Amino acid sequence: MPAINYQDMLQQNIDVKMNVSDLLMYFRCPRQVYYLNRGYELIPDVTSSYIENLLLKELALAYSDIVSTYSSNDEGMINNLKIELCRVCDNIELIHPAELEGVSTKLMEDAKSAVSECIKEIAINLEFAIVQHGKEDLLSCINPVKIDPILYSSRMGLTGMPAKLVCHDGKIVPSVIKTGKYPENGVWNNDRLHVGALIMLVEEEYEKTVEYGFVEYARYGVVRKVIVRANDRRQILKIQNRVWKIKNGTMPDKKESELCEYCNFLDMCGACGIKVSLASRFF
Ligand code: SF4
Repeated sequence: MPAINYQDMLQQNIDVKMNVSDLLMYFRCPRQVYYLNRGYELIPDVTSSYIENLLLKELALAYSDIVSTYSSNDEGMINNLKIELCRVCDNIELIHPAELEGVSTKLMEDAKSAVSECIKEIAINLEFAIVQHGKEDLLSCINPVKIDPILYSSRMGLTGMPAKLVCHDGKIVPSVIKTGKYPENGVWNNDRLHVGALIMLVEEEYEKTVEYGFVEYARYGVVRKVIVRANDRRQILKIQNRVWKIKNGTMPDKKESELCEYCNFLDMCGACGIKVSLASRFF
């Protein structure tokens, strides 16, 4: 048997383009990574909740401006969030023209009213964070020094784009925006690995060790600090290696879930996740 040349293997892998979004897709379903890499397109199901998530992400980018003008007036925070939401709704089709092409006014209105319902809770949580940590500290966690920067690590052969970079305690750290629920404590495991992968990119870009980043749970106005440890880094490298294998042609197992119901690869994949999901509604 010929000896394995690990240096060649590493070089071969680095030649395959990989993005942090591939790792996120792997968390959702490894098979989607496989099909996308074979040239198929993943067509998003543009529902009201899809648009809602786009609106929430844009709205979250304005939280730092809203916090910086805060002056212990409940209605002030709520009104400013409402004004920002109107601005975001006016601009969202200009910011995401491809995703929102041909979307109906009804869907847009449904999404806007769903986000409007979140505003009170967002204001309560941002105000609570101001009282707990102070305005300046909160601002240093959420105020972007760069939005959507493209980062690259030649050592990892990985690119990625955090929602923003913030300057906290004099250090540049990444922050990601999530639109789902937040856990009781800390952040979800996949969110930690997401921030961890971005931290590894920031370290190479800025040539400094980074120990933590932030996750903003936009729907609730909750910001969580996440410390990334050696074991998280180990897991990220392990997952990256699995994604490399998929990109090099290994077909992964199906990961049947409710996601299958909205996945345009369902026919070729042969997953019966749709049945799982429908059955779970009845039993
Ligand atoms: S149908 Fe389900 S298992 Fe198959 S690729 Fe889509 S999400 Fe993955």
